[in-house]
This record gives sequence, structure tokens and C-alpha cells, in this order.
Amino acid sequence: MTETIVIAELNKNGVHPSTAELITAAQALGAQPTLIVPCVDASVADAVTGWNGIKGIVAAKSGAFEHYDAAGWASALDAVMPQGTIVTGASPQSKDLAARIAAKRNLPVVQDAISIDGTNVTSPVYSGKAMQTVSLSGAAVVSVRSNVFPPTSADGQASVSVVDTSGDVATSVQEFMARASTRLDVAEANIIISGGRGMGAPENFSHLEAIADTIGAAVGASRAAVDTWEAIPHSMQVGQTGKTVNPNLYIAVGISGAIQHLAGMRSSKYIVAINKDADAPIFQHADYGIVATWEEALPVLGSSLKAMME
Ligand SMILES: Cc1cc2nc3c(=O)[nH]c(=O)nc-3n(C[C@H](O)[C@H](O)[C@H](O)COP(=O)(O)OP(=O)(O)OC[C@H]3O[C@@H](n4cnc5c(N)ncnc54)[C@H](O)[C@@H]3O)c2cc1C
Repeated sequence: MTETIVIAELNKNGVHPSTAELITAAQALGAQPTLIVPCVDASVADAVTGWNGIKGIVAAKSGAFEHYDAAGWASALDAVMPQGTIVTGASPQSKDLAARIAAKRNLPVVQDAISIDGTNVTSPVYSGKAMQTVSLSGAAVVSVRSNVFPPTSADGQASVSVVDTSGDVATSVQEFMARASTRLDVAEANIIISGGRGMGAPENFSHLEAIADTIGAAVGASRAAVDTWEAIPHSMQVGQTGKTVNPNLYIAVGISGAIQHLAGMRSSKYIVAINKDADAPIFQHADYGIVATWEEALPVLGSSLKAMME
């Protein structure tokens, strides 16, 4: 295996903690990776110098990294990354970037890896109905799902080199669409509470938001909810044509459990379903099921969780 490069996942505070899982994934490919941190201010890379198993950290500094633009980011990163296998996260943005970089470098791409064993990379296909294992024979781009690999430990000592790429990059022309809310994105969350058409009206999602605030969860939705109510944005949709999520806990409220919804969330560690119909398919996949209307169940769940968190 040639050089391995990890592109850091980012959040508003700098390097997202899930990047530590990417380091472990890159090590499973058989190499000590170089971590590339796309940034505007290189000091954000200082926060991760303690991560173990990194060959070195490159803070790739450019104004282009202020707001995401696939073409701008791919050009900027291409300019600083050595040749080799590239590991990214599997958030929608990172998968988009992975595909761009793969196309730019003429490399094969494997998206949504959930297991790596040497050069064998396994990922779900056909909406999770089957697994494919690809044997890499050279450099590739691999996006890795979160919550699959353990994070690397924090007892290392890597040095940071700063590369200013501002002069090299194509200027980002796409306007940044500010996030509609400061809520966690479902693709980044460890706990998700999602509502379906059974919520009855978009304003009833405020009950899900109240619980999400108590336990630090993100709020998701089924496609029926997104399609029925304009106030529920597509960015919240979980499923085959929405986001694929892999949280520790997924709470489905008023969601029937159609195959296309399951495709996006059935790999969650624990699934809790609240549905008034005892025959709803979601119960076949739930670890815990509550047969009740959300009107009955959510107040009890909300106050129990509040008491637990105090
Ligand atoms: C090509 C394709 C792609 C698709 N992609 C996606 C996708 O990405 N994501 C996705 O979610 N769907 C997707 N769908 C749609 C999918 O097939 C289902 O139609 C959709 O998931 C249903 O959403 P729902 O469960 O919220 O609604 P419904 O099927 O209407 O179910 C509502 C549920 O709420 C329950 N309920 C009603 N009232 C209450 C109450 N008061 N309290 C508790 N429970 C209540 C009902 O018993 C029912 O089980 C896709 C479909 C196609 C054809």
C-alpha cells in the first residue's frame, strides 16, 4: 500500500472527533496515515497533535475552505495531498468530496466502508441488502462510515506543517447556504429521533425537538414527512434517497418502517419505535417497541429522559 492520507472531518469548532475513527480505518489499510486538515486558520490542527498513529499533520490553509464547494475543495486538496490512498468520512459532504477527488485523480472510489481488512474494503450495496468486498490493488479513495471503527487513542505526538494553498486554488464560486438551524445534522449525530407522517403536522415536530434538546440528539424525518410538509426540509430525510445514518440510538416516531426508510437507518446500534399500529413493519427491526400514539408516549419518554439527564 502506498502513502495513505486521511482528510479530516470538520465541524464549526475545527476537527470533528469522528476523524479519530478515520485514522484507525486508515491504519487497517496497513499504513500510518498523514492527516490533512482543510482550514482557514491553521491553529485548528493543534487540537489533534496528540492523536496516535499519525505520520504527520498537514494544515492545508486556504480561504476556499471557509465554505464547502466541491470543485474548490477538490482542487485545493489535490494541490497539497501526496499521491496515495485517500480516506474520508462518509457524511454527504465528504462522500461528495471523495467522488470529486477520485475523478480528479482517476482513482477508484469505495463509498461507505464499514470494514477494512488489509486491502479488502467492505461496504453495503443495494440499500444495505448485500455487502460487497472490494480488493484494492493500488491507490483508491475510501469513505468510511462513522461509529464503525474505534477512535485512535490520544497519547501520540504528531507535528503540524502548514501549507498555504491560497495561491493555488480555484476560488469557490458557490454561495454558502447557511444552515437553516444550528441543530446537529443527522449524519453527524450519535442519537437521532425521527418523525414520520404519523406526527400528523409539521408543528408537532417541536415535541421531537424538545426531546432532542434534552439528550443532545438530531431530528430526522421520513420521506413521507418531508414530501408532505414544506416545513420539514429534505436535509432531515433519512433513507434510500435521503441520508444514511449509523447512530448508537435511533428513535422512530410515527414511521411505518418502509424498506426505503430502513435502508438509511437499519445499521443503527439500537432502534426504538413508537407507533400506534402494532403491525407496523418498523417493529420487526426495533430493539424496543412502544405501541402507542406519540401523543401518549412522547410526554412520558420526555420526562423520563429529563429525569435521567438531571
Ligand atoms: C424510490 C423511493 C425512494 C424512497 N426513499 C425514501 C427515503 O429515503 N426515506 C423514507 O423514509 N422513505 C422513502 N421512500 C418512501 C417510503 O416508501 C415510505 O412511503 C415512507 O418511508 C413512509 O413514511 P412514513 O412511515 O412516515 O409514513 P406512513 O407510511 O404514512 O406511516 C405513518 C406511520 O405512522 C403511524 N401513526 C399514525 N398516527 C400515529 C400517531 N398518532 N402516533 C404514532 N404513530 C402513528 C402509522 O401507524 C404508520 O405506521 C421512498 C420511496 C421510493 C419509491
